[in-house]
Amino acid sequence: MTKKSDVLIIGSGPAGLTAAIYTARASLDPVMLEGEPSSTGDQPGGQLMLTTEVENFPGFPSGIMGPELMSSFRKQAERFGTDIETVKATKVDFSERPFKVWVGSDTSGAPTHISESVIVSTGAKALMLGLDRETELIGKGVSTCATCDGFFFKDQEIAVVGGGDSAMEEASFLTKFASKVTIIHRRDSLRASKIMQDRALNNPKIEFLWNSEVVSYEGDAALEGVTVRNNQTDESQVLPVTGLFVAIGHKPNTTIFEGQLDTDEEGYIVTKSPSSYTSVEGVFACGDVQDKTYRQAITASGSGCVAAIDAERWLEANVH
Ligand code: NAP
Repeated sequence: MTKKSDVLIIGSGPAGLTAAIYTARASLDPVMLEGEPSSTGDQPGGQLMLTTEVENFPGFPSGIMGPELMSSFRKQAERFGTDIETVKATKVDFSERPFKVWVGSDTSGAPTHISESVIVSTGAKALMLGLDRETELIGKGVSTCATCDGFFFKDQEIAVVGGGDSAMEEASFLTKFASKVTIIHRRDSLRASKIMQDRALNNPKIEFLWNSEVVSYEGDAALEGVTVRNNQTDESQVLPVTGLFVAIGHKPNTTIFEGQLDTDEEGYIVTKSPSSYTSVEGVFACGDVQDKTYRQAITASGSGCVAAIDAERWLEANVH
């Protein structure tokens, strides 16, 4: 049977759950499709479910574990009446209102949900190297966020993988904490902008390993090193680092919105700054699915609040 709502939220990270808290408190009875865990990295609760300690989310002076923080967000959203379904949206039709959404593998029949407005908060995935034990070592030495985890590597030797702006930025930032940062790049020239390259190349704490690829993680309970292979000479060496920051890009989770919402060349949903309005009136986007710059839980959360207020005002003016 098709479920009807005024607000349907797709995605359950900090952005979606904040949008749920706000729209629920505004008595809009939001329905949230929180997603389902999958082997390809889908994760209800978003990227914080894959992290350990979060020390920079305001309000937690002693820090909090990522999953515990998301569980609190979820409880708060439920407390005000958010109807949360542990299913994954697999098809949308935003061509007319009410908007249609399908879940599950069979999308041939009637939509499972129709809604007057939709808040898209499906997030983004950090691209990973795809090596053995990578997922289990996240938060135990392997990281995708220098801003989040750099502080844990004071006076330690660490490495960054990648040759783009993110890798240069993360490496430069990490020199505030680490005693040495090695940038491991698979080619002999960088993709990063000249200014970011120069900053990294001129930083005395940064060394470069060119034409090099990480081929395995070393250490049991936590990272103790990475084996790096030179793809020109085929020689391997173990780099004794306690931290490895993977900075090889992100991919927004926007496959189901292709052809429905305007996206930029990298697939991020385009919003009409400073609002959460997308190219379709009544569909709003928040969090990492539309933000490739800040990517923090607190900024995602703030943008979820923006989307909730935008949806509430839009519904008031156009539907109710
Ligand atoms: P990016 O520009 O796509 O660079 C990704 C880097 O990772 C490339 O050097 C690539 O190598 C390498 N890479 C990709 N897959 C790999 C793999 N499997 N193994 C090893 N290395 C791999 O991504 P980004 O640096 O995240 O930047 C994304 C966008 O955000 C860019 O437009 C960038 O300018 C922008 N950005 C801007 C700033 C800033 O201005 N402050 C900061 C961060 C990001 P190859 O070079 O060999 O392809």
